[in-house]
Amino acid sequence: MSARAASATQVRLRTGGNKFAAYDAIVIGSGPNGFSSAITLARRGHSVLVVEGQDTIGGGLRTRELTLPGFRHDVCATVLAMTTLSPFMRSVDWGEYGVEWAVPHYPLAHPLDGGRAAVQTTNVAGTVNRLGQDGAGWERMLGPLDAHTPALMEDLLGPLPFPPKHPMLMAQFGVRAAFSAQLTARTLFRSEEARALFLGHAAHSILPLTKPFTSAVGSLLAASAHCTGWPVARGGSQKLGDAMARCFTDLGGEIVTGWQVEHIDELPRAKAYLFDTSPYALARIAASRLPAAFCDRLNAYRFGPGAFKLDLALSDPIPWAAEECRSAGTVHVCGGPDEIVASEAAAWSQAPTEKPFVLVVQPTVFDPSRAPEGKHTCWAYCHVPNNATIDMAEPILAQIERFAPGFRDTILATHTISPGAFQGYNPNYVGGDIIGGVQDLGQMFTRPVARWNPYTTPARDLYICSASTPPGAGIHGMCGYFAAQAALRQILR
Ligand SMILES: Cc1cc2nc3c(=O)[nH]c(=O)nc-3n(C[C@H](O)[C@H](O)[C@H](O)COP(=O)(O)OP(=O)(O)OC[C@H]3O[C@@H](n4cnc5c(N)ncnc54)[C@H](O)[C@@H]3O)c2cc1C
Repeated sequence: MSARAASATQVRLRTGGNKFAAYDAIVIGSGPNGFSSAITLARRGHSVLVVEGQDTIGGGLRTRELTLPGFRHDVCATVLAMTTLSPFMRSVDWGEYGVEWAVPHYPLAHPLDGGRAAVQTTNVAGTVNRLGQDGAGWERMLGPLDAHTPALMEDLLGPLPFPPKHPMLMAQFGVRAAFSAQLTARTLFRSEEARALFLGHAAHSILPLTKPFTSAVGSLLAASAHCTGWPVARGGSQKLGDAMARCFTDLGGEIVTGWQVEHIDELPRAKAYLFDTSPYALARIAASRLPAAFCDRLNAYRFGPGAFKLDLALSDPIPWAAEECRSAGTVHVCGGPDEIVASEAAAWSQAPTEKPFVLVVQPTVFDPSRAPEGKHTCWAYCHVPNNATIDMAEPILAQIERFAPGFRDTILATHTISPGAFQGYNPNYVGGDIIGGVQDLGQMFTRPVARWNPYTTPARDLYICSASTPPGAGIHGMCGYFAAQAALRQILR
């Protein structure tokens, strides 16, 4: 990290005893959205301070040796599916800041019983070829989006677009997007392989797959995999977090770590405050500056199921029975379509399933720099009810072993994060919800509350810029970018 990063005490000293500096803007939280808002403002010549509660920067981009020395695990995000599609992220040459992308041979594989696997390649034609009889359905769904995915993202990675920049494209996308993923899978595909491949994508919505609009998430993610191949940052996601910090400090920005903000009055004076936090934290920290009715609306925001995650140090690559899974970056582990639908429904009940849908990422297969020579890392998580205390380690391991016999013998060390531990680690993950709140129709474009500009609040100097605003979760920085634009229009011209 840059030499400009300082502890809270240093900032107070720098400004002389108890006197705080005045900034144009202060960003609370150093996640990708905190930094994208800070960079956007600093680029316009504003003085900006980023305040981070933890001792290191990065939010969902941190990488740590969670298990054994030399094994570097991403605590949160690894697969940067939306990063290279994001208009904000594309506005910076991250290579100049030391980021190298590593792309797996296959972005995604989905093993099925009997040694079979569904595979998504890095283009529509390749996936279509592999899906046999269901190739035509895949082509019908994703062919029209192919080559237009970056344009589509310009409309979808943000608040509801009025009018959309690409109306025809949005119309084509919208036709299928409105349906439930289960209905789309049943209508378009006949094989277990194609249905499982699509439903696995849709399960990233963390919604019951019988809900309307879950098809939108399924087709968006599938399109992004074709378009970008789902890269990772070589060496760990922290590389991108550090790059964002360096880009910001090169623009004159300042960073303070180890300062968990509890009340807005403890912060230096600024013309604008942007919160890379949960809506609950905004309501609590800025209660004295916001109308009580608005705080009530923030506190009514809904969080969904949590995640239970394992990080594993491995002696060998995962011995998947289906060969294709060995060269995939992400492996969706579950049985067929019905098992996926049941697992995601269970995450919304009080009884998680014994056979969870497990998202496995095995980055060392194509980025060996994350582990000692010849060794490997992987993470695996499943969705569970919000704040669930049930230990899902055994069901997760059993699911992987089911499709990779001998897997348990490769485990050198395990690190576990429960939903409660996720919230303790980062208060934005309320009850272990890792996507910043339920992303259903009611909260997709109107998060955190329904307002003409969802990044603003009734106080002209307060903004929210976290994944609890549109377009929601993911490493794209667009929430922060749009929040900064709102501040630039309203108060920082
Ligand atoms: C297990 C897991 C796996 C994931 N996998 C992926 C993936 O593969 N690909 C992907 O695109 N996305 C993934 N995500 C989602 C992604 O990490 C988030 O959507 C993204 O990080 C949200 O960015 P953000 O800036 O809004 O918030 P965050 O990244 O959560 O950052 C918020 C920051 O604010 C700080 N903060 C909060 N409150 C305060 C306070 N009061 N005072 C000071 N600091 C504060 C926090 O410490 C944190 O550093 C994953 C998330 C998790 C948890």
